Amino acid sequence: MMLLTRKMIEIRNILQTIGQSGTLTLPSIVVIGSQSSGKSSVLEAIVGHEFLPKGSNMVTRRPIELTLVNTPNAQAEYGEFPALGLGKITDFSQVQRTLTDLNLAVPEKDCVSDDPIQLTIYSPNVPDLSMIDLPGYIQVAGHDQPPELKQKIADLCDKYIQPPNVILAISAADVDLANSTALRSSRRVDPRGERTIGVITKMDLVSPERGRDILSDKKYPLRLGYVGVISRIPQTSAIFSRGSGNITSAILKNEHAYFSAHPGEFGPHSEVSTGVSTLRKTLMQVLEQTMASSLAGTRDAISQELEEATYEFKVQYNDRPLSAESHLAESLDGFKHSFKAFAENFGRPQVREMLKSELDQRVMDILAQRYWNKPVEDMDVPMLELDPLKDLPKADSESLYWHRKLDASTSSLTKLGIGRLATTVVANALNNHVDSLLASSTFASHPGAHKQITDACTSILNDRFFSTSDQVENCIKPYKFEIEVEAPEWAKGRDNVGRVLKEELKACESAMKHVEDVIGKRKLRDVITFIDKVRKGDVVLEGNGEGGAGGFSAALLERGREGLFLRDRADIIKMRLLAVRSKQCATQKNKYYCPEVFLDVVADKLTSTAVLFLNVELLSEFYYNFPRELDSRLGRHLSDAEVERFAREDPRIRRHLDIIRKKELLELALQKIESIRQLDGRNRKPERAP
Ligand code: GDP
Repeated sequence: MMLLTRKMIEIRNILQTIGQSGTLTLPSIVVIGSQSSGKSSVLEAIVGHEFLPKGSNMVTRRPIELTLVNTPNAQAEYGEFPALGLGKITDFSQVQRTLTDLNLAVPEKDCVSDDPIQLTIYSPNVPDLSMIDLPGYIQVAGHDQPPELKQKIADLCDKYIQPPNVILAISAADVDLANSTALRSSRRVDPRGERTIGVITKMDLVSPERGRDILSDKKYPLRLGYVGVISRIPQTSAIFSRGSGNITSAILKNEHAYFSAHPGEFGPHSEVSTGVSTLRKTLMQVLEQTMASSLAGTRDAISQELEEATYEFKVQYNDRPLSAESHLAESLDGFKHSFKAFAENFGRPQVREMLKSELDQRVMDILAQRYWNKPVEDMDVPMLELDPLKDLPKADSESLYWHRKLDASTSSLTKLGIGRLATTVVANALNNHVDSLLASSTFASHPGAHKQITDACTSILNDRFFSTSDQVENCIKPYKFEIEVEAPEWAKGRDNVGRVLKEELKACESAMKHVEDVIGKRKLRDVITFIDKVRKGDVVLEGNGEGGAGGFSAALLERGREGLFLRDRADIIKMRLLAVRSKQCATQKNKYYCPEVFLDVVADKLTSTAVLFLNVELLSEFYYNFPRELDSRLGRHLSDAEVERFAREDPRIRRHLDIIRKKELLELALQKIESIRQLDGRNRKPERAP
């Protein structure tokens, strides 16, 4: 018979885990009573243990949602606070301490809180019941209590004594029933006394006649009746019962001794109900009946919730199934797929092009420094009165000066630290590509996994960095001593450097255009003319022109210098472009006239060699290891909890998972309710039969 209550409690727990307990209420027994009416004693007598907070200072400040679960074959009795995850607590004084702490955590100024504490007690000695203990009513607030406390408690209790809950109204026999706050409160919400059970405690404190009169009260008749109890724990056994011993039998013995001593008042023919065990039975039956009658309503409420969840799932998520594991697996697969596609398109040719254009820039820098400037101190070549700009086109192939100049330029290039440079360029490119793949993958909204992936990438690249860089440096070493150039190489170099110079010219011109746009074409021309005059010595500039000069501000002069530099640079490049394209530069015999071409050839040789080793040492290694590292960081080695956490990182996925879970749990709850209804129907049928 008790199956129903138990199943309903199970259903309530399911609903609670999806946070639906608010909308889908299942009936509970709500316990109300004045302070010291014996409310705690009654609850403890039912449970068989002292577990409620005790003390003079208003110790129940939060509702306690007490679920009793009968475990017929178990030995152990224990409590559990499902929301706290403390595990099974077999020592009931520990349960008591925890409840006290949870209650005292409510700030003094708030007095009471309507945030319930959930406690489940498992025992072979308890019935399946679901009860809510509320703070005891007070008459007047104590001197250290806020004046509004009385009202706050009353309001909190009012919230809970609404239908379909059953009210357990506790009153003490030694207080006039007319003064019982519990009965007065229940009468307001249940005027016909249909869902209130009256409990009269402390029956031993009044005469048996008076006791019997109270129990057969007609002033506030209750359909479910009054039960008289003596729930005080007998003193002698109290010492033994602390902690784990069960107190039920001591209480029952004590009660039985009293009630059976007065058979006239309380005997089998007296028509009054007495005793904690009678109370227990009443509670079980009443709760069972109440639950049964709320079954249809609960089922309707659940199906409606389920319909809404199903609709949301369809509309928002297109009925697409999803689990945390499948989400991770799909994300990882998708990412590895896009990485593979990238890897197929980023091989030797691409690395070569990247590296060569990096070296092209270095070549331009070296040329500017050693050839395209007016003669400045050049440590590597003897100081001759030669202007590389003017004299380069006539460079004598026998001249030591031009030999040294080209040698120095070449070794600037070969000794640049090509190994490091090349490795950095490729490693950065890989890093950036992984970043951009990530940005357009599902991992973009998973900060934790995103970090794992970038970490995997950098750790592999870091691991490979030094050996790759060393290898490359070693292999280009021969070029530091000697460079032989074949005719086709020269032709290719000449072609290429022509292109690079043209690019460089374009860059100069667009930078010039930018300066013009900023200060105006005319103004730029004026300031350049002025600076030109200063250079030629036609005008004397005081200091550096920091405070401005010639009617131009310092900032303007600065822009002027920049413009001048760009103009000169563009002029030189135009001139060198002509030279490179001229017949003079057609063969490598004239390499001293054409350092641009020669350096390009060197850069090309360096690039080819570097790429060979970068490919083996860095690219192939990375392409092999990266997907494996991803698997080990995100695939196989995550616990279920980590996979769940990963999936929940993405708010969209979290909502998707939540709605699926909600749907599943509601379906489960509904299924359970249906099975109860079937059972219930079967139980009832014989009754209906004629
Ligand atoms: P609460 O404040 O309503 O929870 O009341 P308690 O359960 O703490 O009881 C208040 C006091 O009444 C305690 O000292 C109990 O020992 C005592 N008490 C409770 N029930 C009985 C009873 O049936 N008979 C007698 N004599 N005392 C009782």
